[in-house]
Amino acid sequence: MSTVFDFNGAPGSGWSQPEPIREDPGKNIPDSMRRNALPRWPRASEPELVRHYTLLSQRNFGIDTGFYPLGSCTMKHNPRINERIVQMPGIDRIHPLQPDSQVQGLLAIYYEMQDMLSICAGMDSVTLQPVAGAQGEFTAIRCIQEYHNSNGENNRNKVIVPDSAHGTNPASAAMCGYEIVEIPSGSDGRIDLQALRAAVDGDTAAMMITNPSTLGVFEPEIAEAARIVHEAGGQMYYDGANFNAILGKTDPGRMGFDAVHYNLHKTFSQPHGGGGPGSGPIGVKSHLAKYLPSPIAARRARTEDDPRGVGDGFWYFWEDPESSIGKVQQWNGNAGAVVRAWAFYRRYGRDLERMSEHAVLNANYLRHRIMRGHGDSAIPTMPKDGAPSEVVKHEFTLDMTPIKDATGVTAKDVAKRLLDYGYMAPTLYFPQIVPECLMLEPTETESKDVLDKFADDFLSILSEDPEILKNAPHTTPVRRVDEVLAARQLILRHPCE
Ligand SMILES: *Cc1c(COP(=O)(O)O)cnc(C)c1O
Repeated sequence: MSTVFDFNGAPGSGWSQPEPIREDPGKNIPDSMRRNALPRWPRASEPELVRHYTLLSQRNFGIDTGFYPLGSCTMKHNPRINERIVQMPGIDRIHPLQPDSQVQGLLAIYYEMQDMLSICAGMDSVTLQPVAGAQGEFTAIRCIQEYHNSNGENNRNKVIVPDSAHGTNPASAAMCGYEIVEIPSGSDGRIDLQALRAAVDGDTAAMMITNPSTLGVFEPEIAEAARIVHEAGGQMYYDGANFNAILGKTDPGRMGFDAVHYNLHKTFSQPHGGGGPGSGPIGVKSHLAKYLPSPIAARRARTEDDPRGVGDGFWYFWEDPESSIGKVQQWNGNAGAVVRAWAFYRRYGRDLERMSEHAVLNANYLRHRIMRGHGDSAIPTMPKDGAPSEVVKHEFTLDMTPIKDATGVTAKDVAKRLLDYGYMAPTLYFPQIVPECLMLEPTETESKDVLDKFADDFLSILSEDPEILKNAPHTTPVRRVDEVLAARQLILRHPCE
């Protein structure tokens, strides 16, 4: 049986292709396994296709369509010059298998990026291989595990995580086989040193923590926490997702950390979420360097035997194939994300701290606009007394309990109503230690006008008829999910399957 489908000129199609090869491509497939009908391929002309995808893109919300104050996610503007740079032929027309001699430009960028990331975090070595913050966490915890094992301390089986931590922290440690010990935060949202002292012992492998915390609160006692963990023989891991608050001001090396991850897609403006792939490099202090995954870009120095500097180039090498934990990602990680982040970093240079200053200023400004507008401490924020005089870092939480008590309107209702006004909802019910939590992070790339308009809209939502909020959103292509129905009749299969 030889059936060759002829698609050319099928009704409604807007394409044509060369004559198909006149040979039955399914020659060896038994009859019982052959299709007897064509799959339901969509047929559309080019203008119809363009309209379809344009319509879909308009239904999507992104940083290019509106203000995106999603706390902890650092949804900053993605400068277009980064796209120009990443599309240069020396970068986007190369293949990972090309010899190093042909990709010196990319290697130089990798080398510089490793160097710049080491400097800004106070670390000694960096690998650009992990492609997400979570994968960076896993990679670094594996390095820490190898370090303990090589010291004959494989009894260390516990990782300490504060209750305000991002869920990826305990998940990454658990993937490495660790038991998670959760410690509570103090009533001001800060680390509870008593609880930490009680939790550490000879089985402690590491503590994972972000500073400032997911409450936007800087931990002034972080060095003391590091001393407690180190004294017990544990390692300190810094979740770098909140780097936007501190760059150029302080660094995790100074705070006593041994390993960090960076989210290039947060701090360094690589598009993320639906907008593009992530990158989660890690940096470590020298005692952990030999466990890093490879390859790592290195620079060959000019030598006496090579006076003309022929060998003065860049190339990859395996840091230490004997002790490396091995690869965690194919090729060299997300090279495009690394190049965009490098372009961003290079343009700031030494001024990087201004980025953090403006991120912190914007967060505090927005917090005050919302709190003042609603009668100072009517909406508590962390630190818990909600005093507007307290300064937060790059993000802040709002506890909507008083609103809920007064009107029945929940944090979620407010979040949904914000969609009608053209905003992305803030982070909702996270961190879990804040009841009725909304978490907002405006980032440095928003203007005062945008923040003022958002604060006005936020406050006017709070004075709307609660019924409007409970049924929001009203204008989005997809309305609120009927959670009761979803819980009762859980359908997990796509209707097309
Ligand atoms: C985003 C985030 C992570 C995880 O990073 P991904 O790149 O999303 O995997 C970890 N911790 C915190 C605090 C974060 O905000």
